[in-house]
Amino acid sequence: MAESTMTNEEYLSILNSMKEGFQVVDQDLRYVFLNKSAEEHSRMLPGSLIGRKMTECYPGIEKTKLFELIIDTLERKNHNEFDNEFTYPNGEKGWFRISIQPSDNQIFIISTDITEIIKKNKELEQFAYITSHDLQEPLRTIMSLSQLMSSTYKGRLDEKADKYLRYIDETSQRMSDLIKGLLDYSRIGSERELTNIDCNELLNAISDDLQENIRESKAQIEVGELPEIRGYETELRMLFQNLISNALKFQKKDNKPRVTIDARKEMGGWEFACTDNGIGIAPENRERIFDIFQRLNKKTRYKGTGIGLAHCRKIVDLHGGKIRVESELGQGSTFYVFLPAQQ
Ligand code: ADP
Repeated sequence: MAESTMTNEEYLSILNSMKEGFQVVDQDLRYVFLNKSAEEHSRMLPGSLIGRKMTECYPGIEKTKLFELIIDTLERKNHNEFDNEFTYPNGEKGWFRISIQPSDNQIFIISTDITEIIKKNKELEQFAYITSHDLQEPLRTIMSLSQLMSSTYKGRLDEKADKYLRYIDETSQRMSDLIKGLLDYSRIGSERELTNIDCNELLNAISDDLQENIRESKAQIEVGELPEIRGYETELRMLFQNLISNALKFQKKDNKPRVTIDARKEMGGWEFACTDNGIGIAPENRERIFDIFQRLNKKTRYKGTGIGLAHCRKIVDLHGGKIRVESELGQGSTFYVFLPAQQ
């Protein structure tokens, strides 16, 4: 291999020109190196961290998720990545995407400042909330006027007029469903409260709510031994309810739905699995179904707005988790939800 022609100074200058923070921490959690951005991110005096222990520089860090993941990378050589929200000493909030990578006897911590992106997302959510909220009012007026026209003029105009009125009714109802979905979406998590949740009880409550649906479709729902976790109850209820409703809905004609919900302990949390024997999802669609308003099937065959799985993803994100699907077309799907242990 050709020898590198770069000097240490040149390497250093590259590291210092990166906008990402780059830190090296040793086995005893002492700072070995910080590039310029990492020093800026730390908001400590330049050079004041080198040689000192993390626990000494940031008292209380032992109780944070960042610390837990650092230990995981040190001890088990795992690569970890997560979005870290934190408050600076002056009360200002910041967000960093942190990537922790193992090396021989050290770890590398790479931090990207995502404060602007998070703030933009929050603005967009606020925008979605305000528009969907304000659109409801004129839509309600359209709906009631069209109903009034239907009841007053039905049969008194020609057939075409009746048909057009019916279309207006149906379309405005659909628009109302979409707007309501968007409003619910933007509200998710706004009043979240972290509590202990017995997932078996949660799933029982959801089965009770879906009783009519289950009876009508003659579905069989099996719930395995589920854990008690810390999380946002209202949101998690919505998550599992959406997954089970979809499992019951996206079925081949005359098929008896069979749905199982299980959980297993994973590194740092629990992974839930919701399996069905439904129509399945083609590989090229397995990502986009989690986007808002994305639907794969004819709306006449399966009713819906395409927002349920977007809700699910937002709820899982709120918990710092991951959602994905594995599926075989025509055979069924399994939705996996990983929820990390909350502090
Ligand atoms: P909706 O149920 O309102 O259509 P979702 O966001 O819940 O919207 O789902 C998006 C799309 O993903 C659905 O329209 C459907 O095509 C597909 N999908 C979701 N769950 C399943 C499932 N269990 N089996 C097969 N396809 C599914």
